[in-house]
Amino acid sequence: MILITGGAGYIGAHVALELLARNEDVLILDNLCNSQRSAIERISTLAGQRPGFIQGDVRNRRLLDTLLRDYPIDAVVHCAGLKAVGESVHEPLRYYDNNVGGSLTLCQAMAQAGVFTLVFSSSATVYGDCCTMPINESCATGQPTNPYGMSKLMAENIMQSVASSDPRWSIGLLRYFNPIGAHPSGLLGEAPLNMPNNLLPFLLQVASGQREYLSVFGNDYPTADGTGVRDYIHIVDLAQGHLCALDALRERSGVNIWNLGTGRGYSVLELVKSFEQVSGVPIALQFKARRPGDVTCCWADPQKAADELGWRASRSLQDMLTDAWRWQCSQLETEWIREAN
Ligand code: NAD
Ligand code: UDP
Repeated sequence: MILITGGAGYIGAHVALELLARNEDVLILDNLCNSQRSAIERISTLAGQRPGFIQGDVRNRRLLDTLLRDYPIDAVVHCAGLKAVGESVHEPLRYYDNNVGGSLTLCQAMAQAGVFTLVFSSSATVYGDCCTMPINESCATGQPTNPYGMSKLMAENIMQSVASSDPRWSIGLLRYFNPIGAHPSGLLGEAPLNMPNNLLPFLLQVASGQREYLSVFGNDYPTADGTGVRDYIHIVDLAQGHLCALDALRERSGVNIWNLGTGRGYSVLELVKSFEQVSGVPIALQFKARRPGDVTCCWADPQKAADELGWRASRSLQDMLTDAWRWQCSQLETEWIREAN
C-alpha cells in the first residue's frame, strides 16, 4: 500500500488516480487546508474504486505512527505542503513549520515503522537563479529567494542526511518544473481556494470572466519576447513520473534526484497565445513590473529521468491548455447548477 500525504491536492490526487489505475492500494492523508473532500469522490469516480482517506495532519506524529502500524504501507509519496511563494514571505514560520516540520515528522515516523521508501514533491525552485539552461540534476542548488523555496531545500537536506545515516532508505527527490493542466476527463484539476498566484490558474479565471485581466510580470527580460520562460508540464505526465520513481526505488538506495520537466521552455506570451488558440477566448493583458524573486528562464534537462526511470513527458502545451480549459468550464458548470438549485 502507498501512503500519499496531501493526496487530496492537485498533484497528489493525480498520483492517486494513476496508482489506482495500476491496481495499487492507496491511502490518502490530507488535512484539507488547501483542498476539499470532493477530490476523494472525484478520484473514486474516475478510478472505479475508492482510495482510503484519513483527514489529518502530517505533523501529527501519533497519527502517523498509528497509520504506519495499522495499514500495510510500504512506500510514501509526500506531497503535503504549503506552496504559495508570496504567502511564504509574509508567513515564513507557518511555511517552515508545515513543510520542514511535516517532512521531519514523516521521516521520523517512517524510520521507526521500518518503512524506508519515500518519494518527495520537491521543486525546481531549489536551483535558485541557475544560469545554465537546461538545468540538470548536477547543477548546484542555489539560494532560494523565498521561504517556500528554502523550506523545500531544507526538507531535501533532511532527506539527504537520513539517507546517509542509514542505507535502508530509498528516496526520490522529484524536482517539479511547472505542472499545469488537468485530467482529460475534466473531473480533476487544480482548484485554488484563494486568489491564484500561478500563471495558468490566474489566466483561467480571466478567461472565465472571474477576473478582468492578466498581469504579465515583466516584459523586459532578456528573452525573445521579454517575458519569463518556464518549462510547463502536463499534470498527468508528472503524476506518471511518480509511479516510475516508485518502481525505480525498488532497485535503488540512497537519495536519487530526478527533474520532472519536458525540456522545452515557453514564455508567458507564448502560453497566452496558445491558450487563445485552443480556447478561442481572448485574454486581456496588462504589463507590470517584474515580480520580485522571479527568475528569467527555467527549463529542465529531462535526460536523467529518461535514462533511469524510462519516463518522458509526452503531452504538448496544447494538450495542457485544452485539458485545463475543459476543467475550468466543468467547474463553472457545477457552480451554475449549484446556484440554480
Ligand atoms: P496543493 O495545495 O493542491 O496540495 C497540497 C495538499 O497538501 C493539499 O491538499 C493540502 O490540504 C495538503 N496539506 C498541506 N499541509 C498539510 C499537512 N500539514 N498535513 C496534511 N496535509 C497537508 O498543492 P500541489 O500543487 O498539489 O503541490 C503538492 C506538492 O508539490 C507541494 O508540496 C508543493 O510544494 C509541491 N510542488 C508544487 C508545484 C506546483 O506548481 N503545483 C511545483 C513544485 C512543487
Ligand atoms: N506570471 C505572470 N503573471 C501572473 C503569474 C505569473 O506574468 O499572474 C509569470 C511569472 O512571472 C513567471 C511565469 O508566469 O514568468 C510562471 O509563473 P508561475 O507563478 O506560474 O510559476 P513559477 O514562478 O513558480 O515558475
